[in-house]
Amino acid sequence: MNLPTTADIVIIGGGVMGASAAYHLAKRGMKNIVLLEKEEFFGTGATGRCAGGVRYQFSTEINVRLSQESLPMIERFKEEIGQDVNYIQCGYLLIATNEKDAATFKHNVELQNRLGVPTQLLSGDDVRARLPLLKFDDAIAGTFNQKDGIVDPNGVVMGYVSAAQKMGVQAISKANVTGISVSDGEVRAVQTSLGEIQTRMVLNAAGPWSGLIGQMAGVSLPIVPLRRQMFTTNPLKDVPADFPFVIDFAKSLYFHREGEGLLIGMSNQNETPGFDQNVDDDFELVNLEAAIERMPLVEKASRASHWAGLYEVTPDAHPIYGGTDVKGFTVCTGFSGHGFMHGPVSGKLMSEYILDGKYSTLDVSMLDLKRFEEGRLIKEYNVV
Ligand SMILES: Cc1cc2nc3c(=O)[nH]c(=O)nc-3n(C[C@H](O)[C@H](O)[C@H](O)COP(=O)(O)OP(=O)(O)OC[C@H]3O[C@@H](n4cnc5c(N)ncnc54)[C@H](O)[C@@H]3O)c2cc1C
Repeated sequence: MNLPTTADIVIIGGGVMGASAAYHLAKRGMKNIVLLEKEEFFGTGATGRCAGGVRYQFSTEINVRLSQESLPMIERFKEEIGQDVNYIQCGYLLIATNEKDAATFKHNVELQNRLGVPTQLLSGDDVRARLPLLKFDDAIAGTFNQKDGIVDPNGVVMGYVSAAQKMGVQAISKANVTGISVSDGEVRAVQTSLGEIQTRMVLNAAGPWSGLIGQMAGVSLPIVPLRRQMFTTNPLKDVPADFPFVIDFAKSLYFHREGEGLLIGMSNQNETPGFDQNVDDDFELVNLEAAIERMPLVEKASRASHWAGLYEVTPDAHPIYGGTDVKGFTVCTGFSGHGFMHGPVSGKLMSEYILDGKYSTLDVSMLDLKRFEEGRLIKEYNVV
């Protein structure tokens, strides 16, 4: 597809945020929308590399509310968008192995229940009874919500891109954005490897790379790219079909069913920020050993695949929505490791902000860029 020379909006980044925003803007009737992606395929950034987890279990009210809007959109995805995204409601089971985390879990469940999410608080014995394949002698508490689960990230991106294209959105891959012209404090044009587009409106949805896009417009965004990695196993017949998404909270080690095998990941707390997306083999061994310790049958498994991707981390681990000091330069980024699940509602919220100047689905105005300079960071509801 040829690059148009003008656009009413240029959306930079063809991951879940850009794709959802393009769809929702077009659905609201906006014309001349251009969605640009630097890679050959859409959804190959953080979105295509994520674990596909979706959950209501969060520790801040705004994150729970984002899930309460976004996850039902995923449930209705096939009906609305026409694409099956394979939402498996296997539940998330979070496990605490120390008193501090157990106390936090209790507060989290109270918050979630107050907001209408029926998360259950479990004892250590409940955890062990639910997970006979795992060794959690040290578990002292757990939390479980059945409607949490896993979803196919590529299905969501491609569903939104195809539906947006049907409404006239020009979705262009292999279009690397290289510059943004700003004059008199206002966006004027976007330069790309395929040419220039004149525009007065840009949405920065470039995920881990959105700090670089911000720099092009002279806007400083506190986004740090941080590598995370995981691996999958060959089929393991002992893992039941209803195996939940298990998180060993203190170790940030997680397991979920992937096809007939398992997907296993763990966060490297010593990871240094950067754009490297190669698997760190040494850390993979650390991950494997931790996984075998919890789930001995992993020792019998062989690795089917492995990969790494980048989190886009902000100082308070909450996203950034809305405008900036440069007129026409808007952002939807900084989801800090849980953006896939909030992609559907985030695109909708950005369509509201761009077309109406305010959010109507959910008030996310506290998640603006200015909060960082004004010291309004989002506090954890229940830091114990
Ligand atoms: C290993 C891992 C596991 C995760 N697990 C989960 C999970 O279980 N659940 C969950 O909800 N979230 C998870 N996340 C987080 C989630 O993947 C992200 O928050 C979300 O996908 C961000 O979407 P995005 O559209 O903002 O970014 P991306 O998907 O990265 O999209 C941004 C796009 O912008 C493009 N781009 C960048 N620069 C340019 C440029 N100059 N020109 C043109 N295009 C450009 C990139 O190529 C990319 O495709 C995980 C992330 C990782 C890395």
